[in-house]
Amino acid sequence: MKDTIFNPIIKVEHVSYKYAKDLVLENVSLDVPRGSFLAIVGPNGSGKSTLLKLLLGLHRLQSGSIKLFGKDIRQFKDWQRIGFVSQKANSFNSGFPATVFEVVLSGLTKKVGLFKFPGKQHKERVNEALEAVDMLAFKNRNIGELSGGQQQRVFIARSLVSEPELLILDEPTVGVDSQHVQQFYEMLEMLNKKMGITLILVTHDVGTVTDKVTHVACLNKQLHFHGGADEYNHLSEKELSALYGHGVQFLSHNH
Ligand code: ADP
Repeated sequence: MKDTIFNPIIKVEHVSYKYAKDLVLENVSLDVPRGSFLAIVGPNGSGKSTLLKLLLGLHRLQSGSIKLFGKDIRQFKDWQRIGFVSQKANSFNSGFPATVFEVVLSGLTKKVGLFKFPGKQHKERVNEALEAVDMLAFKNRNIGELSGGQQQRVFIARSLVSEPELLILDEPTVGVDSQHVQQFYEMLEMLNKKMGITLILVTHDVGTVTDKVTHVACLNKQLHFHGGADEYNHLSEKELSALYGHGVQFLSHNH
C-alpha cells in the first residue's frame, strides 16, 4: 500500500494497556500523519513511555490496534524505517573511548558489518548526519567530552544515518542546559521541515515546544487532547487545567 498523507505513518486505535492489574492506557486512539511533528505531553506516570514502547514493538499489544506505515504492528518488519533516541542516550562519561564519528558510524553497523572498514559512501552518510544536527565540527572529538545536549545531537545523528522516515525521541532535552533547549528544538524543527522526517517527541517542555511542533497530544492514561499546535496554543489556562485536573503547573505556556 502506498503511503500518502491520507495514510498516516502511525494509526493507533482503541489501545488500552495494563501492567498486572493497573490500567495505564485507556482507549487511546491517535493518528500521526506523514511529515508531522507531534509532541506527547503529560505528567509523570501518565503512560507516555508505555505508549512509546507499544509503538516500538517493545510491549505486546493487549487490546486495540496499531498500524505502522499501513501495516498491523504484529506483522511489521521494516523497523529500519523508524529511529529511536532514548532519554538515557546522552550519559557517556568522559573516559568513554569513542569519537563522535565512530558513534554515528555505529548506526550503520548492519550496513557496514561489524569490524569491517566503512566505505566512502558510509563516511559521507556520517558527515551528512552530523551536518544535519550541526555537529560536524566535533566529529573527531571524544564523545565523553561533549555536553549532554551535544551528546544528544550525536545520538540523533546516529539514528539519521540509517535514513529513518520516522524518528521517536523520549525526553531528548533531559541533560540539555536550559539556554540551549530552544536551539535544540530548532534543530528538530529543521529535521522535520527540511528533511521531511516525521517526528514524535515525548517532552515536559510544553512552553518551549508548542511553537515548534505541528501537533500536540496530552496524555494522562486517556488522551485528553489531540490536535494542531495552534489549537493547543489557544487553549486558556482554565481549559488546560481542565484537561489534566489540578496541580499540573508545568502546562502553563507562553501564550
Ligand atoms: P510516563 O512515561 O508518562 O512517566 P509510564 O508509561 O512510564 O509513564 O508509566 C505509566 C504507569 O505505569 C506508571 O504508574 C508506572 O509506575 C507504571 N509502570 C511503568 N512501567 C511499568 C512496569 N514495567 N511494571 C509495572 N508498572 C509500570
